[in-house]
Amino acid sequence: MTHKKKTIGIFGGGQLGMLLAEAAKNIGFETNIYCPDHESPAFKFATNQTIAEYDDKQNLVKFIKSVDYITIEFENIPQNTINFIAKSGKLFPSSDAIKISKDRLMEKDFCVKNQIATNEYTNVVNISDLSHWNYDKKSVIKTRQLGYDGKGQRVINTKSEAEEAFKEFGNRPCILEEFVDFAIEVSTISARDTHGNAFTYPPSENIHKNHILNTSCVPASIDQKTEYTLYEISTKMIKNLNYIGVLAIEFFVLKDNSILVNEIAPRVHNSGHWTLDGSDISQFEQHIRAVSQLKILNPKLIFKTKMLNLIGDDVNIWKDKDNSKNEKIYIYGKTETKKGRKMGHVNFLEEFK
Ligand code: AMP
Repeated sequence: MTHKKKTIGIFGGGQLGMLLAEAAKNIGFETNIYCPDHESPAFKFATNQTIAEYDDKQNLVKFIKSVDYITIEFENIPQNTINFIAKSGKLFPSSDAIKISKDRLMEKDFCVKNQIATNEYTNVVNISDLSHWNYDKKSVIKTRQLGYDGKGQRVINTKSEAEEAFKEFGNRPCILEEFVDFAIEVSTISARDTHGNAFTYPPSENIHKNHILNTSCVPASIDQKTEYTLYEISTKMIKNLNYIGVLAIEFFVLKDNSILVNEIAPRVHNSGHWTLDGSDISQFEQHIRAVSQLKILNPKLIFKTKMLNLIGDDVNIWKDKDNSKNEKIYIYGKTETKKGRKMGHVNFLEEFK
């Protein structure tokens, strides 16, 4: 007797969706990618595709019926759509977890409520809210939603600079936060399944260039105690969010080794691409396992890994090269190379001595 393969529906068609679809295929699932863009990298490994807007009720209903489980590759899908899909009972992570993780204010409030350290912040709904802040120290103003790779955020030194930025961001709800003079930035990739397991990959040390992630290195240059604390915070966060799937958390580590949460992402993450080669299970397979109610695995670090993002024209240096033992090249197949666009990445591997 043959069993019909189960299908995972994925919202979003970028490189994260592509690598999720590939992982799903490798472990015996079919996929249906829902995305408005006709030329999406994720279609490469998808069994089916649904090309429609995220608020197209008719296509949403058809899509939900056609799949067994649903997940997202990016969080900026209208919350009404997320809530609508959630009613099917097929969506992982939950609509509440997605709602919190896509709003910088809710993330920070969640940290405070759960006694997880984060930098000082205040909510800015109206321009007059910018008056309740001490401008003696450098600050950062960020739009609460839809900001990424430095978009929708600016370092400011005075109230008038904050007002200018707020207006330029279209008077959208923002947060104003303390600028952190960090020693290094790290992130963790955690996963939790429906069987009660929760695991966190070793933290990666992240370096940004022009606000875009440039490299992620594992192991990070942190001491054991800091590493342990990062595991503790990550586990607390994923459990308290009652989260199923992969969750990424970005941290600032200060010179005195204190740790502050910067932000979280309810999905697989660029700083977890090293897991494709540096771990015995990738973040993509881990996520697919979790959202399809399989057991996740306790990941093992098998190589020291440095992930290098190929941004814009960087891709031209690598696109015709072959993989070697120590260099694994991923080209996303995007039709247009644009400045600041993530076109691929390379994982550099080094054996442990
Ligand atoms: P984010 O979108 O919040 O991850 O910000 C992108 C990058 O900007 C971070 O990875 C940091 O390098 C920098 N950044 C963001 N917020 C702050 C802050 N409060 N203090 C210092 N650097 C920041």
